[in-house]
Amino acid sequence: EIGALSDLETVSTLGHGNGGTVYKVRHKRTSNLYALKLVQIPSSDSESGSLLRSQVGREMDILARTDSPHVVRCHGIFKKDAAGDVALVLEYMDSGSLETLARRTGTLSEDVLASVARQVLLGLNYLHGLKIVHRDIKPSNLLVNGEMEVKISDFGVSKVMVRRLETCASYVGTNAYMSPERFDPETNGGCYDAFAGDIWSLGVTLWELYVGYFPLLPSGQRPDWATLMCAICFGDMPDFPENASPEFNDFLSCCLRKDSNKRSTVSDLLGHPFVARDRDAPREAR
Ligand code: ATP
Ligand code: MG
Repeated sequence: EIGALSDLETVSTLGHGNGGTVYKVRHKRTSNLYALKLVQIPSSDSESGSLLRSQVGREMDILARTDSPHVVRCHGIFKKDAAGDVALVLEYMDSGSLETLARRTGTLSEDVLASVARQVLLGLNYLHGLKIVHRDIKPSNLLVNGEMEVKISDFGVSKVMVRRLETCASYVGTNAYMSPERFDPETNGGCYDAFAGDIWSLGVTLWELYVGYFPLLPSGQRPDWATLMCAICFGDMPDFPENASPEFNDFLSCCLRKDSNKRSTVSDLLGHPFVARDRDAPREAR
């Protein structure tokens, strides 16, 4: 539907991420708004250049396959020039990410989080059905629009699985929302269900949005890799929020079982009372 990049004009900058900048753009003829994600790939054959190239390739591949109301839509992919820089034209989410939303409001209520949980689970249900593991679920990758629709974005480190089981750490890199078995595959005997990692990340995300800080480290601590890995793989889990309802507490504990074989799956969680409480949920799901 978008013929060329020259049909778009820049309105403003939305944010910078790992290796890319995202702009708000307007389609000149229709005035429709989009988010344009520009990823500059270093032209040299450096290691970081080829890593970035494979990440962008994966992201394009996955965006081209996905078509769901719970996943940010892609309206066009352009190779900018011979150097290989890539531009992704994405559905514009006008309320930003859950990270920016929480920064504005401090914390989010249980009712809002029940709706967030249901929408993200529907997105994960769709992706996992296509054998796609997202691997980077976190507040800044969950985008929101004016109707409070929440959609999954950013497939830079996602993977299409051939089998359900991941046998070794096939993704190098860390993020604070990673599950114990992804930090250290040995915690699960070296073999784990790749999809369970997204559930852990969703649990950490909801917990953080409820309390207003990253919950797995004493607040204020700088999350370096070693401290994080120790806390997540070997530490006792901090207590869930005291003032939270029993359903929310139970939902978090289902997401955050350290043993990935005991963790709930997407379909288990879609039937959880916490999610069924969402006011916008269709009647049959209540
Ligand atoms: P990371 O590199 O760790 O993923 P990030 O998620 O912040 O960090 P990007 O995914 O590149 O990086 O996005 C940068 C920011 O741009 C997002 O946090 C979000 O605020 C904004 N953004 C990205 N995509 C869209 C979109 N489709 N609509 C509106 N804003 C967007
Ligand atoms: Mg991102």
